[in-house]
Amino acid sequence: MTTVRIGNGYDVHRLEKGLRLVLCGVDIPHDRGCVAHSDGDVAIHALCDALLGAASLGDIGRHFPDTDGKYENIASGILLERVCGMLSENGYAVGNVDIVIVAQRPKVAPYIEDMRRNLSETMGIPVSSVSVKATTTERLGFTGREEGIAAYAVALIDNIR
Ligand code: MG
Repeated sequence: MTTVRIGNGYDVHRLEKGLRLVLCGVDIPHDRGCVAHSDGDVAIHALCDALLGAASLGDIGRHFPDTDGKYENIASGILLERVCGMLSENGYAVGNVDIVIVAQRPKVAPYIEDMRRNLSETMGIPVSSVSVKATTTERLGFTGREEGIAAYAVALIDNIR
């Protein structure tokens, strides 16, 4: 009998002018990007936490501490790949995931399909099991003032052992 488990994740990164912006592994042309130890892919970070949470395996900060030089500027897709590896070692398979990116700018819609394809390849699940959505906060709060980008993620995993 398979057991379905659920996890959620949340992350925020500060925006600064002149930095690279990467969301769900896709480089997005913009006048500012996320301040981070890694590539600052806030959406993948939230997703990793959702997956780890579903398996009760802690969080991204525990597995990939930002005090560790080996994670400096690392592509977050590599972290996601490792998280999926940890899940399968523990007898879990990713079911489906759903991500919400909260940003006033840039417009994320044109990149959604690339993001879904990218994440599905990294996680080894069908594109139809990967949902990426985006919203603004109507100029309210830190995301609305373009001081930062936030991301929420939910993941279902199946116990396959
Ligand atoms: Mg982060």
